Amino acid sequence: MKLGTTGQFLGTVLAVQANFYKVQLDEAREQGSKGAGGQLDLDSPLPPLLLCTRRMLLKKIGQQVMVGDRVVVEEPDWSGGRGAIADVLPRRTELDRPPIANADQILLVFAVADPPLEPYQLSRFLIKAESTGIDVLLCLNKSDLVSPQEKQEISDRLLNWGYKPLFISVQQEINIAEVAKYLSQKITVVAGPSGVGKSSLINALIPDINLRVGEVSGKLARGRHTTRHVELFDLPNGGLLADTPGFNQPDLDCSPEELVHYFPEVRERLANGRCRFNDCLHRDEPDCVVQGNWERYEHYLEFLDEAIARQTQLNQQADPESNLRHKTKGKGQSQYEPKLESKKYRRTSRRTQIQGLQDLYQEED
Ligand code: GDP
Ligand code: ZN
Repeated sequence: MKLGTTGQFLGTVLAVQANFYKVQLDEAREQGSKGAGGQLDLDSPLPPLLLCTRRMLLKKIGQQVMVGDRVVVEEPDWSGGRGAIADVLPRRTELDRPPIANADQILLVFAVADPPLEPYQLSRFLIKAESTGIDVLLCLNKSDLVSPQEKQEISDRLLNWGYKPLFISVQQEINIAEVAKYLSQKITVVAGPSGVGKSSLINALIPDINLRVGEVSGKLARGRHTTRHVELFDLPNGGLLADTPGFNQPDLDCSPEELVHYFPEVRERLANGRCRFNDCLHRDEPDCVVQGNWERYEHYLEFLDEAIARQTQLNQQADPESNLRHKTKGKGQSQYEPKLESKKYRRTSRRTQIQGLQDLYQEED
């Protein structure tokens, strides 16, 4: 869309390199604009890319520009392929690591085999993804390696967790078109442990991207994982996909009282019932609606211990309040101030929550 003022255009930041921003404009420039050809290919089906700087005013007010940001570009120099970012539109979502604005969904990729599907690891990634407040799409790759019956068992199990997985096989080209449909017109961030076929999937979705496909435990994949460079790539059907710089076991950094909200299978219980205590952590408190026979309750208890340990550590650090920033109500945020065993828990800010995925993206070393 071209803005009212002459010389202003809307675009999306695809990559950030030093002080330059690669911006894809929404639309090709109008015919008859000055400058012919240059680096911009007018016959290209994709809108023009401009290498932009950030206006001094934005620097002065400390306005950062992130990959995924919607920006106003001024005074494009068509022949030189340059422009200047004059404004950043408000972000719908924000992840800190990888730093991506306006992501619509997280595409979580696991394999059903080779490496084997680890329920605990999957749970961790799911909780981490849920804590960002961004939609999660769960794809299970390498479905060619298991029987229909095994698939059914996995599917039933995950439905009890509150997820409906999409079984795919990049190798056998099963359900890849289905994945493409889900990604159409959206900004998607790919996540998942190494060896599950993420690079293979991205290569299948964007044939000319050519990511290196590594071995399950090989060092090959590491090469491209050593950089933190984040870039959004065009999907053939519209939409953008962020390639993932390497991963570790995600660190859970939510507060103890938030944690339970990241388990979809108990959200209903929480909505329909009430624990006796407002600050119930659902361990061994009487009259608790969460405790009980659901499969991931064990995971919950383990993650809870972790969250409490982390919180205790935070409380021991000097002036934890200085970490607090703006508080907006998030999807899983509890509605009350926790008063647990007379310890004061630091209320997790929205800022911390949206950092969510960051630990999924730590370099592999
Ligand atoms: P990444 O580390 O998640 O990016 O995984 P890669 O894309 O590097 O793939 C890891 C290994 O899994 C490679 O040897 C791929 O050839 C293999 N692979 C990828 N997709 C499939 C699949 O659908 N079925 C099977 N059997 N193997 C696959
Ligand atoms: Zn409870």
